[in-house]
Amino acid sequence: MTLAQLPVGQSARIAAVGGEGALRRRLLDMGLTPGTTVMVRKIAPMGDPIELHLRGYELTLRLEDAEHYAGRGPAGRGGARLMVFALAGNQNSGKTTLFNQLTGSNQHVGNFPGVTVDKKEGVIRDHTTGEHHFGPRAWGHERHKRSEIPPRAPATVVDLPGIYSLSPYTSEEIVTRDFLIDGKPDGIINIVDATNIERNLYLTMQLIELGIPMVIALNMMDEMRANGNTVDVNGLEAELGVPVVPISAAKNEGIDELIEHALRAAEHKQRPRRQDFCTGAVHRCIHGIAHMIEDHAQAAGVPPYFAATKLVEGDGPMQKRLRLTENEIDLIGHSVAEMETELGTDREAALADMRYSFIEKLCAATVVKHGETREHARSVKLDKVLTGKYTGIPIFLLIMLACSG
Ligand code: GDP
Ligand code: MG
Repeated sequence: MTLAQLPVGQSARIAAVGGEGALRRRLLDMGLTPGTTVMVRKIAPMGDPIELHLRGYELTLRLEDAEHYAGRGPAGRGGARLMVFALAGNQNSGKTTLFNQLTGSNQHVGNFPGVTVDKKEGVIRDHTTGEHHFGPRAWGHERHKRSEIPPRAPATVVDLPGIYSLSPYTSEEIVTRDFLIDGKPDGIINIVDATNIERNLYLTMQLIELGIPMVIALNMMDEMRANGNTVDVNGLEAELGVPVVPISAAKNEGIDELIEHALRAAEHKQRPRRQDFCTGAVHRCIHGIAHMIEDHAQAAGVPPYFAATKLVEGDGPMQKRLRLTENEIDLIGHSVAEMETELGTDREAALADMRYSFIEKLCAATVVKHGETREHARSVKLDKVLTGKYTGIPIFLLIMLACSG
C-alpha cells in the first residue's frame, strides 16, 4: 500500500521509501524514514497536498515541491569586514519577522550571485539603546563616556532562504549552503519554531555540524505559553552545546538578549560544543570518512565532519568540491556499503533516522506539550463540523444556497 492509498484518520508504518534522487531524499529529510508511523490527517480534494501527522508534528506534502534546480555561486564579499551573521531556519519559522525586528527599516535587498534568490541584508540594531549599530552615533564620544564600554563595531545579518535541510537539491538549499561555507559568516542565528521543534531541529543539527559560532532563537514562545507548553531551555542548550534564547519575534520579546548572545558567540568564536550526534555504525562510518578526507576538506574550506556526513549521504556536489581521487571515492563507497549492510537500510535513510532519533530523545526530555496547538485544534474542530454526520450535509446545502441566492 502507498501513502496516497491510506484512508484519512488511519496510521501505518513506513516499510520503504520509494522514488529516487532528490524526491526520495526530500521525503527522508521530512522525517518519512522506514519504520516511522504516519497518520493521514487530511487529503485535499483534487490531489492537492496531503496532511500527515508523524513524529509529533504535522507535515503537508506537496510532491511538486521536490523539484530540483541547478545553479550555484559563492557569495563573495569584498572590502572591510563587518561582523556578518547568517539567519537560517525553516520556512514559516518567523524568519522574516525576526529579520525585521533585528534590523528595523535598515534593510537592503539584492540577489545571491548567479541565482534568482533574494538576498536581504540589514544592520543589526543596537540592542542596548534601541538604535542602530551604525553611523557616527555608535562611535561617538558621548555614548562612549556614558556607557563606559567601548562601542561594538556594527554587525550585519543576512536573511537566508527558508529551508529544511542542507542538502544540495533546491536552489534555496544550495544558496544557503554556499553562503555558510564560502561566505564565512562570523555567526549563525538559527531560528527554530518551538511549536514545531522536532521538524525544525533537523536543520539545526546540520547547522551545528558546520562548526560556526551559533545561537538558537527559539521562536513562537508566546504561542507555546498560550498553549500551556514549556521547553527546558537549559536542557536543550546542554544537549545541543549551543546557546538557546527563547523569543517571540512577533511580540518583540527576547530580541535584545538574542542579539547580545549572538554578538558574544561571534566575538569569542564560541563554536558549538558538540558536533557529533551519531552512534554505532553511522558513527564509525562518518568518523572513518572524516579522517580520510580531512586534508581535502581543509583545502576546500569545508568542515571535515560536515563534509563526511554529506559524503555518507551520497552528496554529489560535495564529492566534486572536495576533489576526491577515484581510490578515495571507492573507499567511501565500501565504508558506506558496510554501514548499510549492518543497519539493513540505505545511506540516506540511515542519516535521516540518526538525526530524528536524537531529536526525539532530546524533545522527550526537554519539551512538555500539555495541549495541542491552537491552530491544530481549530482545524480539527472545523473539519469535524464540515464533515460531521449531521452537520456536513446541511452546511454544504447552506453554502450551495448562499451561492445561488
Ligand atoms: P518565515 O517564512 O520564516 O519568514 O516566517 P514569517 O516571519 O513570515 O512568519 C510566519 C508566520 O508566523 C506569520 O504569520 C508571523 O506573523 C508568525 N509569527 C512569526 N513569529 C511569531 C511569534 O513569535 N509568535 C507567533 N505567535 N507568531 C509568529
Ligand atoms: Mg520569510
